[in-house]
Amino acid sequence: MQEDLDRVLFEEDAIRVRLDALAAEITAFYSNRELTVLALLNGSLIFAADLLRRVPLPLRIDCLRVSSYHGGTESSGVVTFEEQTLPDLRGRHVLVLDDILDTGRTLHAVLERLSEVGAPLSAEACVLLSKRRPRAAHCEPRFVGFEMEDEFVVGYGLDYRERYRNLPYIGVLKPQIYCGSGPG
Ligand code: 5GP
Ligand code: MG
Repeated sequence: MQEDLDRVLFEEDAIRVRLDALAAEITAFYSNRELTVLALLNGSLIFAADLLRRVPLPLRIDCLRVSSYHGGTESSGVVTFEEQTLPDLRGRHVLVLDDILDTGRTLHAVLERLSEVGAPLSAEACVLLSKRRPRAAHCEPRFVGFEMEDEFVVGYGLDYRERYRNLPYIGVLKPQIYCGSGPG
């Protein structure tokens, strides 16, 4: 285990097993329809790569860079769309992928924007992790990998100040790593 971690929450093997099931759920849900995946960068990068290779549907992959943490360990409450143009999603079944659902603001903002300007045929969300906590914005992802307690985790795409994304497992970061360091 990486020394900055308190403990591992989801081992590589557990993630692999869960991704098999999640991919099967998604494949069954869309049956043979063409799917457009909108992966939220950077956090969902590794999740998307591993999940989508298990989904044998005709699909397109698009990415959107959004951020709400701005380098800290708590949502700033402001969701920034760094790339303002959405891909053309008219008439498409869209599945938004994110690494983790926390306050719900990110997914809520993305889904709202999608329905306003993207005009997709359908829009659903899939998150690898969902924190058990009250949401600040309403958001019900149809597909969830794992439920977890409200702790700050890194690894498997999730970062703290852009570090730890390449860990193959997901773990709780030691509080002393981020205590005393403000956002940014
Ligand atoms: P929300 O908008 O739901 O509050 O937050 C979602 C975003 O915040 C995620 O896409 C992720 O980037 C970040 N986030 C929320 N919780 C965590 C966490 O425990 N660890 C890390 N590394 N990022 C998190
Ligand atoms: Mg993210």
